[in-house]
Amino acid sequence: MRLPISVSPSPGLFRRGAAFLLGLVQVFVMAQAQAQAQQPAASSKAQVSMSELRDLIDKKITEVRNNQAPAPVVRVRTRGRAVPTPPKEVIQWDYSGEGGPEHWGRLEPANHLCAKGLRQSPIEVGGGIRVDLEPIGFDYRNTDFRVIDTGHTVEVRVEPGSSITVSQRRYELKQFHFHRPSEERVNGRHHDMSLHLVHADEQGRLAVVAVLMDQAKDHAAVQQIWNALPLEKHTEQVSAVPLDLNALLPEQRQYHTYMGSITTPPCTEGVLWLVMKQPVGVSPYQLEVFGRLYPMNARPIQPTAGRMVKEDR
Ligand SMILES: [Zn+2]
Repeated sequence: MRLPISVSPSPGLFRRGAAFLLGLVQVFVMAQAQAQAQQPAASSKAQVSMSELRDLIDKKITEVRNNQAPAPVVRVRTRGRAVPTPPKEVIQWDYSGEGGPEHWGRLEPANHLCAKGLRQSPIEVGGGIRVDLEPIGFDYRNTDFRVIDTGHTVEVRVEPGSSITVSQRRYELKQFHFHRPSEERVNGRHHDMSLHLVHADEQGRLAVVAVLMDQAKDHAAVQQIWNALPLEKHTEQVSAVPLDLNALLPEQRQYHTYMGSITTPPCTEGVLWLVMKQPVGVSPYQLEVFGRLYPMNARPIQPTAGRMVKEDR
């Protein structure tokens, strides 16, 4: 895109430029007159020595420079478009260092909720109001799947057709991924890992089912996913064997629930969280495998800020 540019020197500069030229002419005339007065008989061409003239001109230049106007102002007009800012060094979000959670809100304007939002996740979900919650209507199928190492987690993308129903609203499962340790805190305790099953309804509203994971025995479905881990980050591997999504869920389906956000930039709010109360088991080796890729990929606990948290009694 070309930008129309107009250069408008300040009026003062014109005035000073003219004064400078006039000054030079005056100097020359004065020097001539002075030389003639001193040496009336000499020929006019030899009347002023060049060094005297140079000295006088230098003096005048110094005088004008001392009154120098600022550089001309360059105004850039845009036709309703933003002026492209010079490329800055981009800091990628991360879980520590310069791109760590305390800086997410400042990395990009779109991330403002990460710093300013009052309905952020994760939170401490223990101590909520104990009620009889409506059971989550799981409709999970066997599915082909692809495993992607996103650079922030291991993510599994599934075929359409699996969903949950909550308050008569159907949310389709889009992907699930892992955190180590669990982002959720329950009565002051983080679990070894957690699984986030991310669903969206037709309007794009999100509902995330969190499954807590603790060290125990081998988990067959998790092993199936680890078997399909891609060799490189930002690449995906398609599994040859379909996955039974129900095998990812705990036997008991009681849960904690509250309204929060996605836990990575841009920290979008309006997410329905459903945190399963019963953890599932994974083997020490399965924990270690994920730990080699992502030893810590959990956002810190966010303020509850007066939000209602409910749980099955
Ligand atoms: Zn997550």
